Parts: sequence; structure tokens; C-alpha cells
Amino acid sequence: MLTKDLKEAWSQFLDFIEDRCSGTEFENWFSPIEIVEGVENELTLRVPSIFVQEYLLDNYEKDLRGFLPVRPDGSLAISFLIAEEKKVTHRPMPQAPKQASNDPAHSLNLNPSYTFPYFIEGPANQFVKSAALSVAMRPGKSYNPLFIHGGVGLGKTHLLHAIAHYAVEHHKKLKIHYITTEAFINDLVSSLRNKSSDKYKRFYRSLDILLIDDIQFLQNRLNFEEEFCHTFEALIQQSKQVIVTSDKPPSQLKLSERMIARMEWGLVAHIGIPDFETRVAILQHKAELKGIRLPPKIAYFIAEHIFNNVRQLEGALNRLSAFSKLMGKEITEDVVTASIGELMQSPQGKKVSVDVILKNVATLFEVKESDLRSQKRTKKIAFPRQVAMYLAKELVTHSLTKIAQSFGGKTHSTLLHAWKKISKQAELDDKLKRQIQMARRNIEA
Ligand code: ADP
Ligand code: MG
Repeated sequence: MLTKDLKEAWSQFLDFIEDRCSGTEFENWFSPIEIVEGVENELTLRVPSIFVQEYLLDNYEKDLRGFLPVRPDGSLAISFLIAEEKKVTHRPMPQAPKQASNDPAHSLNLNPSYTFPYFIEGPANQFVKSAALSVAMRPGKSYNPLFIHGGVGLGKTHLLHAIAHYAVEHHKKLKIHYITTEAFINDLVSSLRNKSSDKYKRFYRSLDILLIDDIQFLQNRLNFEEEFCHTFEALIQQSKQVIVTSDKPPSQLKLSERMIARMEWGLVAHIGIPDFETRVAILQHKAELKGIRLPPKIAYFIAEHIFNNVRQLEGALNRLSAFSKLMGKEITEDVVTASIGELMQSPQGKKVSVDVILKNVATLFEVKESDLRSQKRTKKIAFPRQVAMYLAKELVTHSLTKIAQSFGGKTHSTLLHAWKKISKQAELDDKLKRQIQMARRNIEA
């Protein structure tokens, strides 16, 4: 291929990529790459650092193959020149990485309402909240690192900010830094470009508390993973507190074994989907903050229909409030349906009933369905009944009181007790975990 065609092919590749990544990503990674006149049939690129080369090959090799020639041995016909090896660079120096100023509260960029008092507790997040509070109160002295994981919109960032707020207020002398993984990587890249990576490393290693959000973005970014791992180890070894959030537990992250092991050094805490009562409490709390009058009946109605993401609950509330102001109407069920209808999920995609759960659990444990509904308390019956209660709390969107009644008039607290017991046990007992997964699949199928 002629050099001109190669240039054309590279520019087509850039057009292709530009549509597929964020503006920042493009600016950071692709804009600094230059084409160099080089060997025939081979594209020679000048990259600002080895990181850019590896980033390109790690993430885009497949796409590159669609645009560029390959060598007879099947490898991509690209060679790289690292710009750092050149003596002169004409590029203006980008800004230095962000530093925490003397007033951490302002420079940390924290959301003022993501605090502990504004975090509503329920059985699914009580444990993680108390772990977060304990770390905030005694940084470096309780769990280190604290690893918080859970699905989207369940309050991971909220808790991370809450720890930072608390620490800023109560430990004034400590150097605290909150950063998203994305920003951590971007800072590292610009410090490399700046040749200020020593300064960058010194900054991170001098922290007393590092809070890092969404660590899953470190996956498939080998070089950054390594740098992060060094920082991480350096901090932990000096008993400096590290708190990490992620959308998955450490073992499910595509990171090196070493990194995963480090994440598991301290406490791994899961933040679950809030149950019905907690969802109602969150709605009422947020409504109060926003000065919205939310009748309990409406809060129940919303909580029954939006159940797996707190951010959506909040979004629903905002829209509802805007809608009712605009139309000058009181908030009623009709107003709710009209304003947030499309946000509402039909519970769990389809309605799961306690009957279906009992039927499946009875089959799985080879007991009679009628025994599960009865008052019998032998272990052979009581245990599957608790599993059924656990599943009911997880899968049925009604209030606990209502669910408990369907178990032959049990109380709300019996149900909660069963749920706690089984969730704890399933964490330790793989067989039980698999049984529950199996039952769940059947019930939801
Ligand atoms: P994540 O980081 O897990 O995706 P966020 O922390 O951004 O979720 O939370 C999404 C929204 O839900 C935020 O506005 C947060 O305040 C709110 N939220 C989540 N859990 C709770 C809770 N238990 N109490 C009060 N607000 C919550
Ligand atoms: Mg978040």
C-alpha cells in the first residue's frame, strides 16, 4: 500500500473511532498521534508515550485490522515511534494534574447532598453504610481497603462522597482526594505527557484518604492498572485509607490476580436493591428535600412500580413534581401515570407471586407446598420456608407486611429475620447459593 493510501486509511479509522468514543477519550488518546513518513506498506505512528501505543493495541486492534494492512505473518502493519525519545517537542505543555488545594471541601467536587444523614438505610444497605461510616470515623484503622460494589444507581457514589464529607469535616489535617477512575487515568496520561509523572506519583502517595469511584473502568487498561496498583499498595502499607467502588465484586473484574487480591485485602461490601419500605422512605425523604408534597399512597404506588434503581426513583419524583406544577394539579395516581408512565416497570417484568415461589421452592427441596404454608417447625420444613421468604422479599414488589401475610399470617419481622439469615448463609454456602439461583431462574422464567 502506498503511503498516501495509508494516510487515507488512518484518517478513515479516526473518523470511525470519533463516532464511537467520548470527546475526552478522543482528545486524550487519538489527537496526539501523528503519522510519520516511514516504510512502505507499513504505517508509522508517532505517539506521545508507550501508554498510547498500548492503549491503541489493547482496545482497538480489531478495528484497526478493518482499515490497515497486515504483514505476511498476520500482525498489524503499524510501527510506533515514541515521541518522548525525541529531543525537541513543539507541543505546548498541557496543564499540570489537578492538586488538592488547601481547602479540600471545595476542591474535592463533592455533591453537597451526598452525605450520611441523607442516605436512607434499609436491610440491603445497612451493612455497607455502617462500614462506610466506620471507615470515615477511623480512616486507616478499620477496614482497609473498603470495597463497595453494587448495581447502577444504588448509592455507591453517594456513600463515597459521604465518607469524604465526613472526613473533611472531622479530620481537618488529613489530605483527602476523591476521584473517578476515568479522571485518575486522564490525570496520569497528562502527567506523562507533561513529564510530571513523578509529581503525580508523589501527590497520590502522600494522601491520607483516597476515594476512587467506578474502578471497573480500570479493566483492560493494563498500564494504568499497574500504576494504580503501586499507588494502592503504597497507601495501604502506610495504613492510609483507600475506598473503592465498583459495579461488580473484585473477583468478577477483569483485572490482574494481584490487583483482585489487593481489593479483597480489606472488606468487600455489597450494596443491594432497596426493599419496598426503603424505597418509600427514600421517596419521602427526597420529596421533603425538594419541597414536594407526596401523599403516602402515591409514594407506595411509585415504589411498587420503580424498584431496581434509586436514581430512577428520584428522576420519577422530579418529573412528577414538574408535571404537577405545570398542570396545576394535585399529585394523584392519574397524574403519576401520565407523567412517569414510561418509567414504570411492570413489577419484575412480570408479577411474581408468593404462590409461584412456594411451588418452586417445594419442588427444589422436595417438600410439600402445603407444609411450607403450615405452622410446622421441623428443620426439614422451616429451612425451605425461610428460603421461600428470602425469595419473596427479593422478588415480590409488595410491602413486607403483605408478603408475610401470604406465608400463613407471619409477621413482617419474621420475614426480615428469614431474609437476613438466608442472605448471610448463602454468602458462605455455595450449594445454597446455587439452589437459590436455580429457584430464581425457574421463578422468573
Ligand atoms: P451509583 O453510584 O451506585 O450508581 P449514586 O450514588 O449516584 O449511585 O446514587 C444515585 C442517586 O440515588 C443519588 O441521587 C443518590 O443520592 C440516590 N440514592 C441512592 N441510594 C440512596 C439511599 N439509600 N438514600 C438516599 N438516596 C440514595
Ligand atoms: Mg456512581
